[in-house]
Amino acid sequence: MPAVAGYAYLTQGVAAGQRAAALKAAPDVAAGVVVTDPDALDRAYEALADLVDDEIPEALVNAEVSERLNDLAMRLQAQGMDLDRLADFLRANFDDLAPHPEERDAERFAQRVRRGEVFGLIGLRRLARRAIEEGFPLEPEQRFGFLHLGGGRCLLWRNNLARVDPLSPEGRSAAYRLGRRRLHAAVAFYRRYLPGMERLQLLDTAPALGVRETRRILGDYRLTNADVLASRRFPDVVCRSAGHDSHLDLRDGVCDIPLGALLPQGVEHLLVAGRAIFAETPTAFDAIRGVVPCIGTGQAAGVVAALAAQARVAPRQLDIAAIQAELLRQGGIL
Ligand SMILES: Cc1cc2nc3c(=O)[nH]c(=O)nc-3n(C[C@H](O)[C@H](O)[C@H](O)COP(=O)(O)OP(=O)(O)OC[C@H]3O[C@@H](n4cnc5c(N)ncnc54)[C@H](O)[C@@H]3O)c2cc1C
Repeated sequence: MPAVAGYAYLTQGVAAGQRAAALKAAPDVAAGVVVTDPDALDRAYEALADLVDDEIPEALVNAEVSERLNDLAMRLQAQGMDLDRLADFLRANFDDLAPHPEERDAERFAQRVRRGEVFGLIGLRRLARRAIEEGFPLEPEQRFGFLHLGGGRCLLWRNNLARVDPLSPEGRSAAYRLGRRRLHAAVAFYRRYLPGMERLQLLDTAPALGVRETRRILGDYRLTNADVLASRRFPDVVCRSAGHDSHLDLRDGVCDIPLGALLPQGVEHLLVAGRAIFAETPTAFDAIRGVVPCIGTGQAAGVVAALAAQARVAPRQLDIAAIQAELLRQGGIL
């Protein structure tokens, strides 16, 4: 049974003019409101007061928005590849590929494809040029490629979709349209031009755009670019940053993530995890935004919340040594 989060249902499934009525009928679908225009704050309070019976909390979490608002991504999965036919073609057209740098031998690459291993494929510029010359509707600047996930199933993605503001509905809609159009064009291109892909079938399209960086909280401590470059240690460490990232050039590899970066300034009983913690862009942000550090801050936030609930105190009142001891007991790396 397909299901979507309440906020996604409201923004994508309900027409703008009907959202107030939908919210009145089912207020639980919205757990919070993000006000992006400071001048609209009073209007937002009034609208909320109309919608909910409870008192509106006074506490506001302040956030900053990154300047790097341009990297949006969309992906889809497809299946039905004939790996033997594809391997023959790739072997004969190896010079039209820019495969993973580890794989420089055409025959070995073809064997991996035949065996159905996980492999990445990037290139096919010559093939795309031929398709365009024959009038196939492909955008010439597109770089083609996919990741074979095993069993004839592949993942296609398009990054850097549009230089739009992902916080604006118009920007997001434009990126959704562009991403889906380009991915569907790529699937059609593979079916027609890439031997072994003739029977490719669409499995699913990502339900949401991938957005690398937008808002983050203003917290008690901002992890700085200099902290990360110096692999700084913090007394209130709750997890470690990414070891390496293609966007990073770290001397020592990793840096501590301090609890202060998870605590929103001036607000009690709230913890933030994942890429919305307080970290300076670009280096510190790139060090905390990977999946692994996001899991780490998520685990830390969960432990802090549980200990605070048990002790009936706010997270800031907890003893950091108790938090760290529990994280270490759970196998956390500090
Ligand atoms: C294109 C792209 C490629 C990437 N590649 C890599 C990579 O190769 N390796 C790597 O380590 N990292 C990669 N990252 C980064 C990494 O995936 C993210 O930074 C990380 O997943 C962020 O985790 P998070 O928990 O903070 O947020 P998310 O994973 O975005 O989770 C937030 C969740 O909250 C939900 N949500 C939001 N608002 C509401 C609401 N109001 N109510 C209910 N639910 C809500 C969202 O639907 C979402 O499921 C990539 C990111 C992008 C965009």
